[in-house]
Amino acid sequence: MTNSFTTRLLYQHKHTRARVIEVTTPHGKFVGPVFMPVGTRAGVNNLSSTDLQLSQTQIILGGNTYHMLSAPQMQVIENAGGMHNFMAWQGPMLTDSGGFQIFSLSKQGKMCNIDEDGANFYLPGPNQWMHMTPEVSLATQKIIGADIIMAFDECTLDSLDYDAAALVMARTHRWLERSCAYHSLHPSSVYGARQALFGIIQGGVHQKLRRQSAEYVASMATDGIAIGGETIGFDMLATIKIIDWIHDILPQDKARYTMGVGASVQDLLDVVAAGIDMFDCVAPTRNARHGALYCGELKPAGNWLSFESAHPNGRMLIKKACYADDPGPIMESCTCPTCQNYSRSHLHYLFKTKHELFSALASMHNVYVLHDACARMRDLIVKHHA
Ligand SMILES: [Zn+2]
Repeated sequence: MTNSFTTRLLYQHKHTRARVIEVTTPHGKFVGPVFMPVGTRAGVNNLSSTDLQLSQTQIILGGNTYHMLSAPQMQVIENAGGMHNFMAWQGPMLTDSGGFQIFSLSKQGKMCNIDEDGANFYLPGPNQWMHMTPEVSLATQKIIGADIIMAFDECTLDSLDYDAAALVMARTHRWLERSCAYHSLHPSSVYGARQALFGIIQGGVHQKLRRQSAEYVASMATDGIAIGGETIGFDMLATIKIIDWIHDILPQDKARYTMGVGASVQDLLDVVAAGIDMFDCVAPTRNARHGALYCGELKPAGNWLSFESAHPNGRMLIKKACYADDPGPIMESCTCPTCQNYSRSHLHYLFKTKHELFSALASMHNVYVLHDACARMRDLIVKHHA
C-alpha cells in the first residue's frame, strides 16, 4: 500500500457541480461523493467493523481528539499502534481536531475558555485541565494516526454578528497557519504513515467573511478543505447558501468536506449537487436507535436526483402498529443485509420489546441507504459527465 495521500478529480457532472473524486490514503482508496459513519468514541454505534464493511462503508470518522484525550487517553491508543488497530478498522479514517467539542462545551457554559494561544478546558476522564493549542491538537491526531486530520479551529455560532464572527475567523486562520507549520515539520503519524491535513472555512452566516475564509484556506498548503460552523448540516438551506457563496473559490483538485451533513438522504443529494465530496453525521445511527428508518426511493429530478418518500422526513417509524404484521422489508429496493433478511414485523417486534438486536439491524439499513445514495450519485455523474 502506498504511503501517500493524493486526490484525483475523475468526473465533473455536466448539469450540476457534483463530482466524482478518487482519494488514495496509506490505508486504501475511497471514491467520493462519500458518506462517513461517525465513531467519535472509537466505535461506530451499533456497527462492528465487519458490519461497516457489509454496509459498503469506505471511510469512517474515528476517534475524535477531545474524546480520546478524555478516555481511553493517548497512551492506550499509542500502545495499540494507533486508532486503526485500536478500533479494528484498517480502511481510510478521518479524525476531528476537538474544535467542535470545545465549542459545544463553551456553548453549554461548561468549563472552557479560549484565547489566542488555544483553549483551556476540563477533561473529565483524567480529571484534569487541558491546554489545547493547534500544535497539541495535531500532535494528538498524529498519535490517533488517522489518514485525514483536521486543523484546530473555533466553530462559529450562528448568532455572532459580523464583527464577532470576523474575530473568530481571523483567529481560526492564525491557528491554521500554525497547524500547517507544524504539519510541514511532521507530515506523518507517529507510526510513519503520511497524513493529510484539512483546513476549515469559518465565517458564520456572513457572505463576505465566508468568501474571505474560503480564499484564505484555499491559499494554504492543505490536502483538503472543510466547511464548518454551527449552521453546517443543522440548517440545510443556510448550508447550501454558504456553499453557493464560496464554490468558485474552492480548488478543483482538493477534496471538499461539509462537517456534520447527513441527517437525511436528501441532504446528501443537495450538498453533492452543490459541489461537496465528503460528509459525516451521527444522525443515521441515532435515528436507527430511535426506530426512525430511512424509507423512500431515489427518483430522477430534472438532471439530478431526489429522495421521494411517503413518510415524514423520509423516515418510517417502525413502532407504528401498522407494521406489527407487515411481512415486507423496510424498503423494497434496498439490498442491505437487514432488508434482505428481516421483515418490518420482526423489526417492529424487536423495537417494541427493546431487543438489543434492533439497533444493529436498523443502523445497518440507515447507513447502507446513505452509501447507496452516494453510489447512485457517482453512477449518474459518470454517466453524464462534462
Ligand atoms: Zn435496507
